[in-house]
Amino acid sequence: SSGDTARDKVMETLRLFSEVCRKLIREEEANPRKKGGKHFNVSVEASKIVKSKGKYLNVGAQIIGTVPGVEVGDEFQYRIELNFLGIHRAIQAGIDYTRDANKELLATSIVASGGYDDDLCNSDVLIYTGQGGNLSKKFQQGCVSSEPKDQQLLRGNLALANSKDKQNPVRVIRGNKKTPSDTKNYVYDGLYLVEEFWKEVGSFGKLVFKYRLRRIAGQPELTWKVVKKAKASKVRDGLCCDDISGGKERLPICAVNELDDEKPPEFVYTVKMIYPDWCQPIPPKGCGCTKRCKNSASCACVAKNGGELPYNYDGAIVFRKPMVYECGPLCGCPPDCYLRVTQSGIKIQLEIFKTESRGWGVRSLESIPSGSFICEYAGELLQENEADRLAGKDEYLFDIGTDDNGSDSFYESSFFTIDAARKGNVGRFINHSCSPNLYAQDVLYHHEDRRIPHVMLFAKDNIPPLKELTYYYNYKIGQVLDADGNVKIKNCHCGSAKCSGRLY
Ligand code: SAM
Repeated sequence: SSGDTARDKVMETLRLFSEVCRKLIREEEANPRKKGGKHFNVSVEASKIVKSKGKYLNVGAQIIGTVPGVEVGDEFQYRIELNFLGIHRAIQAGIDYTRDANKELLATSIVASGGYDDDLCNSDVLIYTGQGGNLSKKFQQGCVSSEPKDQQLLRGNLALANSKDKQNPVRVIRGNKKTPSDTKNYVYDGLYLVEEFWKEVGSFGKLVFKYRLRRIAGQPELTWKVVKKAKASKVRDGLCCDDISGGKERLPICAVNELDDEKPPEFVYTVKMIYPDWCQPIPPKGCGCTKRCKNSASCACVAKNGGELPYNYDGAIVFRKPMVYECGPLCGCPPDCYLRVTQSGIKIQLEIFKTESRGWGVRSLESIPSGSFICEYAGELLQENEADRLAGKDEYLFDIGTDDNGSDSFYESSFFTIDAARKGNVGRFINHSCSPNLYAQDVLYHHEDRRIPHVMLFAKDNIPPLKELTYYYNYKIGQVLDADGNVKIKNCHCGSAKCSGRLY
């Protein structure tokens, strides 16, 4: 809409792109193209669709400096995202550039893989090698037949050299290589200035250009520095509990408080929902599959989801739906079935941490790709019971069946509530935001009562390490009452640019 900020537009384009990617991946997983057929490039195919919908951004003249709506620390799964947001237009070249008013080349951005000083004290300095000279990986692997050559002071190399004289800001995007624990991604590291450049003899005895760039002061700290420090130190600063789940989750969930002496609150950790006696969930009929359920007409559980798997094989949810049906206890498929994503528990390393103004919150030291399952909102199932609210213990209630667009998904008003005050899991610590990065998805698997689905939280975006995980609480302002029937007021401290100021 017209009130959308540049940030909203960036997020909208990124969400569209990720969703299209996941749909294309699902198609490919269902019907893999035959070998020898045209190579399937998900990001290229998805970007064409984003373009056809007119959602490319900053398509005009190349921007020098900050790109509207793009923030330091933003993460991208595919290089083409840098192109269609106007961060780095060049599809392959590491240096992107434009011409100034005098037709002189100026560097606008570089994609750096490596080159950072491993010494954290020096990590604001980046040594970047120029382009050209057949020094690429392809050459080293013998895929390119031409001989190495001296690099020339042309195009990108010239642009970076000119940027030293002009002292214009250059955007730096860090390309992280795939490691066993992390998928490849790109991170926007902010603006740098070219301090110096020189020629030296490279590994093939040919001349290469080297550029020293220094990060402009005053930008948000580089998260990878903080994460690296946290991972390297034997004892985390502020660590006050090794595992709030007490061994109940597969991955420990630590508590970190770097602000004061407060310890995490006492509660009973439960991995699973707790149902009252009157509620005896009846398992649905099994699907009869013996292998992992795939996109096929023959699986009854896939059929319940409209005939398509709601997840990719990597566990990412394809898109949000009114209900997701997973395989249940009577299904013959194995525990690692593609249709048992949320029931198999938390796979992302989470931690709780003390925030400045919102009590405890939840975050991760890992990058979380868009579509990832985070955790359930587990607790005790209550039939809507005002007594509990009047007792003032309403901080940990989750009303089932209302989505965050304010519309009830199945029923006029929600009737069931999950209470995580006494018993709950890490989900009870996730705070509200007016610009959330998670959403709640209703999921059924061990019974078919649509009034009481599991509430499962998924990532809406690629979420950088240490960024607080939040969802939209969907309180109606002016409708939360105290014991005397007076309107209760709680201010929102989510800090987002779109914050309404009130939680309720
Ligand atoms: N922060 C809680 C804690 O320390 O246990 C965890 C979340 S709990 C489900 C909900 C409560 O957290 C709210 O009632 C409110 O007190 C606080 N909270 C959550 N989001 C908030 C926000 N955006 N601004 C202010 N307080 C918030």
